Amino acid sequence: MTEWSSTSLLADRDPEWRQVLKSNLRQIDWSESLQGIVDKILDDKPLTKQDGLSLFSEPNLFELGQLALLHKKAMFGERAYFNSNVHINQTNICVLACRFCAFRRGPKADDAYALSIENYLEELSKFSPYVNEVHSVGGLHPEWTVDHYADLFRRIRSEHPHISIKALTAVEVKHLAQLSNLTIKETLLRLKESGLTSLPGGGAEILDDDVRAIICNGKESSQEYLDIHQTAHEIGLPSNCTMLFGTIETATQRVEHILQLRDLASQTNGFQCFVPYPFLPDSTRLPMAQLSTGQEILRVIAVSRILMDTIPHIKAYRMNIGDELAELALQFGADDIDGTVQQESIMHLAGSTAPLNHDMQQLSKLVRNAGCIPIKRNTTYTEFEEYVAPKPIKRLPMA
Ligand code: SF4
Repeated sequence: MTEWSSTSLLADRDPEWRQVLKSNLRQIDWSESLQGIVDKILDDKPLTKQDGLSLFSEPNLFELGQLALLHKKAMFGERAYFNSNVHINQTNICVLACRFCAFRRGPKADDAYALSIENYLEELSKFSPYVNEVHSVGGLHPEWTVDHYADLFRRIRSEHPHISIKALTAVEVKHLAQLSNLTIKETLLRLKESGLTSLPGGGAEILDDDVRAIICNGKESSQEYLDIHQTAHEIGLPSNCTMLFGTIETATQRVEHILQLRDLASQTNGFQCFVPYPFLPDSTRLPMAQLSTGQEILRVIAVSRILMDTIPHIKAYRMNIGDELAELALQFGADDIDGTVQQESIMHLAGSTAPLNHDMQQLSKLVRNAGCIPIKRNTTYTEFEEYVAPKPIKRLPMA
């Protein structure tokens, strides 16, 4: 497994992408509403909150998509990334009750569960030959301290050394630190020493404390989310970051969210991937949510790509938006569609109908349908390989 460093994060991005982008931007006759933004990019001026708002209200979605796609192509050409992973949620028992969450259960619920280390490893063993990453997030268990996760990660690394561990969202890290009487840094160091490879980005929701007080009261604050990821990057743990949109946030709050992450990324170089995904309402408690249409999902992906020049990868999270939109999103600036996943609860309990159990052949077909070249990557985006589907076996004619 290639060791991650903040410079290896850019391993597959064209270092001359800004020049490539400018040259391509000059060849297009942009509409008046986008020309001002294109001019700023040509002049190397950073895009501002006002620019973000005007991108969110751009009347021509397809031209917006074209601008985002040119960014993606300048960075990665025709390549689009995926990995072979499995999701295992270690527990659905949670001491919090975020209003958008269909996954959590109280400890006494009939369908509450907490996988023992043995049960977790048994589950992982079923998928181990086919995956190189396990993605594990879950509820805030009232008793599991950092020792539980350190033991789990050590066992995973010892029994499945080819598997990277992407686990624990920022609020889980905060919860473990509190239960274990450790600082965030001490907690992350223990987890890293035990085998943790990277942090997923979940839990960012919208980085605005007024919104958080309504949709996820009790969760880490916006600043705590940023601080936990900053600490992770400082000790050599890369992470992803997310945005949950379509609840109660305004366009301004979306733009501010994106810009806060962009600014932190420019300081730490530690965010690998930004994953914006829409709120799914089934079994949740947010009747006032605005919800998002397909067009809006594509718009958020395109705007994210244009604004987020400090985070290399933008993911179309197909577990949430489904295969069809994920395929389209690759034409609106996304360059990654996550992985094979195998099993997923968090989005499916909230209403996702995205197909599970995709193998690499199916994922690569999705990528090729979008006009891209499928590249299999590892967790930390440091190893890449073009995926070529095996040729179908020719059957001999019956004698
Ligand atoms: S989103 Fe996470 S922290 Fe919030 S209730 Fe669900 S499992 Fe718990």
